[in-house]
Amino acid sequence: MLEPEEVLRRFGALRQAPKVGGGRAPHKPLLALYLLGRIQREARPDAGPLVVPYASAEPVVSALIAEFGPPGRDAHRAALPFFHLDRSVWIPEGDGLAPRHPVLRDRRATGRFVPEVEEALRRDPALMVEVARRLLAANFPDTYVAPICEAVGLDLDEAVGPKAKKRARGSDFRPRVLRAYEHACAFCGYDGMACGESTLLSPVALAAAHVRWHALEGPDEVTNGLALCDLHHTLFDRGLLGVDGARRIVVSPAFSGRSEAAQRAVRALDQRPLREPTASRDRVDEAHLGWHRAQVFRAATAA
Ligand SMILES: [Zn+2]
Repeated sequence: MLEPEEVLRRFGALRQAPKVGGGRAPHKPLLALYLLGRIQREARPDAGPLVVPYASAEPVVSALIAEFGPPGRDAHRAALPFFHLDRSVWIPEGDGLAPRHPVLRDRRATGRFVPEVEEALRRDPALMVEVARRLLAANFPDTYVAPICEAVGLDLDEAVGPKAKKRARGSDFRPRVLRAYEHACAFCGYDGMACGESTLLSPVALAAAHVRWHALEGPDEVTNGLALCDLHHTLFDRGLLGVDGARRIVVSPAFSGRSEAAQRAVRALDQRPLREPTASRDRVDEAHLGWHRAQVFRAATAA
């Protein structure tokens, strides 16, 4: 019987050290989250081991990688993690398999969890939620959690478990970034405040966004931060807004407003200069903006 710590350790090892230059490689975590979603939804006391045909996982996992992975095309998207997910967790089955989409499809590959891992996850729903939380925290900013969970059908509130341990955030990151930008969105200038008790005002729906993600070694420094309203924070994290080398806002061609009004409101930002902090030492570092352009910003419509 596997101890919970051992299960957490095995999934924790899927967090990949950032590639040289801090490239993102969330393929394995996204497959693992998809599989956890299936376990959670299909768990019945009398259920046999979960056997996952590649053909059923591929469309969902490829779509997850296209939407939440780094920009760019990748012909063998779901094939890579399906074949390479760590063998202490996952066993691909079939003859003559290779990490290539046509091979796994044509040979009708299947995969299953290592039995003792599956047994531990089924026995302890809170452990499963904890594994999922840690995978999310290690690979994505908070703005990704709800859409990924929705896509894989995972419910993080279903079981009460200890919260994922996050790297302790520099406690003054948020106030320092918001102050540098005078409590207004660096893209649109939004500066809403809510009246607190005793008439003190505090910023509302305004976030200190990490340009290079906190989960991927982005430092808690003002030069890695932007004050952004909640809307622009989410669009920036999802790569639908970016900042070009001339420090102008760019709207991704992958963004589409369903209504004319939404389309106009976001498109109006295109090519507007970033609102810079008053103190030039607080300006966001071009190196971090370059990371965001390479790893997050969707310069083309989704593949
Ligand atoms: Zn804004």
